[in-house]
Amino acid sequence: MSYGSTHVLRGVDLEIRRGEIFALLGPNGAGKTTTVEILEGFRQRSAGEVRVLGTDPARADDAWRGRIGLVLQSWRDHRRWQVAELLTHFATYYPDPRDPAELLDLVGLTHQARQRVDRLSGGQRRRVDVALGIIGRPELLFLDEPTTGFDPEARRDFHDLIERLARTEGVTILLTTHDLAEAERLADRIAMLVDGRIRACGTPAELARRAAAQAEVRWTAPDGRPRHERTADPSGLVWELHRETAGPIADLEVRRPTLEDTYLHMVHRQGTDTDGTDDDAHRTGLAAGGDTGRQRHEGDGHDGDDGHRPGGAGPRPRCGERRRGGRARRGPARVAAPLRAGLRRGGIELRHLLRDRKEMSGHLANVVVALLLATFISDDVPGTRIPMAQLTLSGFAAYLLFQIGVINLPQMLVTEREEGTLLRLRATPGGIPAYLVAKSLLIVGVAVATLVVLLGAAALVDGPLPHGPGGWLTLLWVTGLGLLAVVPLGAAIGAVLPNPREALALIMLPAMALLVTSGAMFPITTMPTVVQNIASVFPLRWMAQGLRASLLPDAARAAEPAGSWQLPTVAMVLAAWAVLGFLLAVPLLRRAARRESGSRLTARQTRAQLGGAPRREPAARRPAPPHLRAPPRGAVWGRGVGGARAVAGPAADVAGRCARRANGGRRRTA
Ligand code: ADP
Repeated sequence: MSYGSTHVLRGVDLEIRRGEIFALLGPNGAGKTTTVEILEGFRQRSAGEVRVLGTDPARADDAWRGRIGLVLQSWRDHRRWQVAELLTHFATYYPDPRDPAELLDLVGLTHQARQRVDRLSGGQRRRVDVALGIIGRPELLFLDEPTTGFDPEARRDFHDLIERLARTEGVTILLTTHDLAEAERLADRIAMLVDGRIRACGTPAELARRAAAQAEVRWTAPDGRPRHERTADPSGLVWELHRETAGPIADLEVRRPTLEDTYLHMVHRQGTDTDGTDDDAHRTGLAAGGDTGRQRHEGDGHDGDDGHRPGGAGPRPRCGERRRGGRARRGPARVAAPLRAGLRRGGIELRHLLRDRKEMSGHLANVVVALLLATFISDDVPGTRIPMAQLTLSGFAAYLLFQIGVINLPQMLVTEREEGTLLRLRATPGGIPAYLVAKSLLIVGVAVATLVVLLGAAALVDGPLPHGPGGWLTLLWVTGLGLLAVVPLGAAIGAVLPNPREALALIMLPAMALLVTSGAMFPITTMPTVVQNIASVFPLRWMAQGLRASLLPDAARAAEPAGSWQLPTVAMVLAAWAVLGFLLAVPLLRRAARRESGSRLTARQTRAQLGGAPRREPAARRPAPPHLRAPPRGAVWGRGVGGARAVAGPAADVAGRCARRANGGRRRTA
C-alpha cells in the first residue's frame, strides 16, 4: 500500500486460517488500520493480492459482507434506538441471524434490552457493537481494540465470548489491540507490524521463546559495579557467575521477558532491517544455541539494543504455516430484501422522531411561526380581495417542504455519517439501499405531517385550502414533484458537506436568501426583475407557485408575474431539478458510502472533538492508549470487592486488602 511515493505497507504476507484468533500488534502508524481496512474491503490496495473468504475484498458484494462481522471503536450510531430494537432490526439483514434475545444474554445486556443506546455506559455500548458484529453469524470477525473502556469483569466475559466463538463455532477472528495481555490470552498467533512490515509472527509461545533469547541477568560485581547481560540461557550464566565469584552473587536478578518485551524490542528495532520476519526466525535459531547470543554490559545498568544481526537473509517466509480446524461454512448468503428492511427502518425512525420532544418541537415551531406571521398580515393580495395571509401561508408551506429536503435531510445525513450509521450500514448486507429507502420514507412522512398540521391549523383561522378535486390533485402532484426536486438535491448536499456544524452554517444562508426572493412570503412581483429571474432558476419559487395554484382561488393569479399559474412550467422546472438531483445524488452518495471506513470515522470524530481544522497528527506522536501509559509510581486505585468501598495504596497493598476482603477478612497466605 502506498500513498503517492510513501509506502505504508511493504511485503505484508500473511495467511490466517479458519477458526484462528489472530492478533495484529504494532505501534501507532505501523499500518494495522490500513491492513485491516484492506481486508475489510474499505480501502483499495495499490498492489498485491488479497483473498478473504475466497474473495478479493476490493470486489466484494453483499453476500460476502453477510459473512463478515465488524466491531469498530468509533461507532456512536443509532443513539435513539433501544438495544433490543436495534438487534432485532439488524437481524433482518442476514439470512441466518442469531436470536436477538439469546444474543442479549450472550453479551450480558438482557437488563438493558429496552434502554436507549445513548443512555448506556461506554462498556455497555461496546457490547452492543459486539452483539451487532456477530448477529449475522459471521465466519470472519474483525475486532478493533474491542475491550477499550471495559471494566475487568466485562473484559473477562468478552474474552470468554471470543474464545467460545472461535473454539465452538469456528469463527475466524482478526483482532487489533494495544493490550498485550489480551493478545497473549486470546490469540492463536500474533503478528507484530512495525513500520509497514511484519517484524515477527507466531504463536505466543513461539514469540515468548524468541523473547527468551533476550532474558536479562543483573547483578553487582565484586568490585561493586552494576552489571547486566542479555542471554538466551540465563541459568547457564548464573551458574557461570557462581563459579567465577566462588560465592553468593550480589543483587542477582533474572528477568524473563514478557510478550511486552518482545513487542518493545521489535518496535525499537524499527527501520533497522529490510526483510520482514526472516530476521527473527534467524535470531531465534541462532540465539537458542547458547552463548553465541550473549553480550555483557557494564556501567549504569541501562541497556541499549543488543545489536545482534543475522548474517544472510533467505526468502521471506509466509506468516501462516499453522492450520487449526475450523469449519468451512455455508455457501453464498442470501440477502434480505433491502426494500422491506428499509420500510421497517423508516417506520422505526418515524416512531423515534415522534417520541423525540426536542425534534418535534423544532418542527412544530416552524408551523407556529408561520401561523403567527399570518395573523400579523391584514391586507389583501394586490388587485384581489384574497387575504395576503393566505398567500404567505401557501408560500410558507412550500418553504417547509423545501427546508425538509435541503436543510433537514443533509443535516441528518451528515450527522449520521459522523456517528458511523452510514459505515455500519455499509458493513451490513443490503444496508445502504435500506438506509435510502428508510430516509425517503422518513422525509415523505415528515413532509406530509408538516403540511397536514400547517394547513389544518390554518384552516381553523380561515387559512388556505384546496378548492375542489382539481385543487387537491394539484396539491398532491406539486408536493410529490417538489419533494422529488429537493430530496435528491438534499442528499447530494449531505454527501459532500463536511460535518453537522458547518453543514447548517453553509446551507442556512442561501436557503434564507431563497425564502425572501422566491415570492414565498409576498408576491414575487415586488422584487426587481433580475432577482425574480435568479429566483426562477431554483425550485422554491415554483413549489410556492404550485402550492398557491392548489390552495388559493383563481383570482389570486392576478398577483403572479405571468398572470397565470404556469403549471406546465412548474412541472417542468421541478422535474428538471429532480433529474439533476438524482444525477448528482446517486454518484455522490455512492462515493460517500464507498469512502466510509473506521479510520475516516475516527479522524472525523477527533476533528469534531478538537473543534478545529482538519489536521493529521503524526502517527508517532499520538498519545498511547491509557492502559499503556505509565501510572504514577506505586499508587494504584482499586474497586472494593463487591463494589462496597474504594481501596487505594501501593499495588501490593491493594491486592492484599482486596483479597483479604474477598476471603472474609482472613489473610491469604498464598
Ligand atoms: P496504525 O493503524 O497502525 O496506527 P495506519 O494504518 O493508520 O496505522 O497508518 C499507517 C501509515 O499510513 C501512517 O504513517 C499514516 O500516516 C499513513 N496513512 C494512513 N492513511 C493515509 C492517507 N489516507 N494518506 C496518507 N497517508 C496515510
